[in-house]
Amino acid sequence: MADCLFPRMALIGIGLLGSSIALAARQHGVVEHIAIHTRSADTLARAQDLGLGDSYHQDIIACVREADLVIVCTPVGVCEAIAKSIADHLKDGAIVTDVGSVKGSIVKQMAPYLPEHVHFIPGHPIAGTENSGPDAGFAELFIGRWCILTPADSVDRDAVSRLQAFWEILGSNVELMDANHHDQVLAITSHLPHLIAYNIVGTASDLEMVRNSEVIKYSAGGFRDFTRLAASDPTMWRDVFLHNKEAALEMLGRFTEDLTALQRAIRWGDGDALFELFSRTRSIRRSIIDAGQEIEAPDFGRHINEAEGEAQKSQTRL
Ligand code: NAP
Repeated sequence: MADCLFPRMALIGIGLLGSSIALAARQHGVVEHIAIHTRSADTLARAQDLGLGDSYHQDIIACVREADLVIVCTPVGVCEAIAKSIADHLKDGAIVTDVGSVKGSIVKQMAPYLPEHVHFIPGHPIAGTENSGPDAGFAELFIGRWCILTPADSVDRDAVSRLQAFWEILGSNVELMDANHHDQVLAITSHLPHLIAYNIVGTASDLEMVRNSEVIKYSAGGFRDFTRLAASDPTMWRDVFLHNKEAALEMLGRFTEDLTALQRAIRWGDGDALFELFSRTRSIRRSIIDAGQEIEAPDFGRHINEAEGEAQKSQTRL
C-alpha cells in the first residue's frame, strides 16, 4: 500500500478510464474517498452496484466540492461545459486534471474557466481498450503504460510532482510534454490508426462483390486486427477528430501521399520499393515489442485459457 496522496478524489465520468482509475487508486491506497459523478442516473447506479466509489453524486458540484484531486474522464467534447460548472466550487489548492486523448483543445476548453487557486494539469494515460462503460475498467490498465502530462510552464511544480507520483503508483511511466506536441504525436500513433481502421472496416462492409459473411469468415487474413480498433467508442472518437482537427488532417495528408506512392509502386511493378518499405516497418514492430508495449505471443484468434486471457487483457491496450 502506498501513502495516501489525495484524501478526496472526484471522478467525473465513470466509463473505462474512470472505473479503472477508481479500482487502481483504491487498490494502491492513494486516495481515501472516491466521489463519483456521471451524466446518466443508470451509469451512476451501475458504478454504485460495482462498488467503484465511496459517494455517488448526480450533482456535479457536490462531487467536486472538497476534492483534492478532480479527474475529468468524459469524452473530450464536454470538457468546457464541465469546467464552467465546477469552476466556482473547487477547493483551494485542488489539482484538476483529465484523461482526454487530445490536449490542446482541453486547455482551450477548460483553462479560461478554472480559478487561479487550483492547479490545472491536463493528462493523457496512453492506456485503453475498445470497451467502454463502468464494467470495462480494471485496476491493471495503467501498468507499464505511459501517461503524458501537459502542464503550462506557470503551474506549481509541487502539484505536478504529486500528480506524477499518483500515476506512477498506478503503474504508469510519466512524461511531461507540450500540449500541441502531444497532439501531433498522438495524431500519428493513435488517431490516424483508428481512422484507417474505421475506414477499412467501413469499406469492407460497403463492398458489393464480397459478401459480408465472407469478410467475417476470412477475417484472420488481416481484417480482424483492424476490427478491434474500429469497435472503439464512437462518441469518444468523434470528439477526438473534432478536437484534434489540424494535427489529424496533417497526418492524414502525409499518409495519403505515401499511400499514393504505394499505389504507384504496385501499378508499375516496383517490387524493390514495396520490399524496402515492408522491411522497414517490420523492424518498427520489433522495437515496440522490445519496448514492452506489445507482447510477442500470437493467438490467431484461437481460444486462450483464463490466466492467459487476463495477461492478454492487460496487454491489449490502445
Ligand atoms: P467511456 O467508457 O465511454 O466513458 C465515458 C464516461 O463519460 C461515461 O461514464 C459517461 O457517462 C460520461 N459522460 C459523458 N458525457 C458526460 C457529461 N456531460 N458529464 C458527465 N459525464 C459524462 O469512455 P472512456 O473510454 O472512459 O474515455 C473517457 C476519456 O478518456 C475520453 O476523453 C478519451 O479520449 C480518454 N481516453 C480513452 C481511452 C480508451 O482507450 N478508451 C484511452 C485513453 C484516454 P454516462 O453513461 O452517464 O453518459
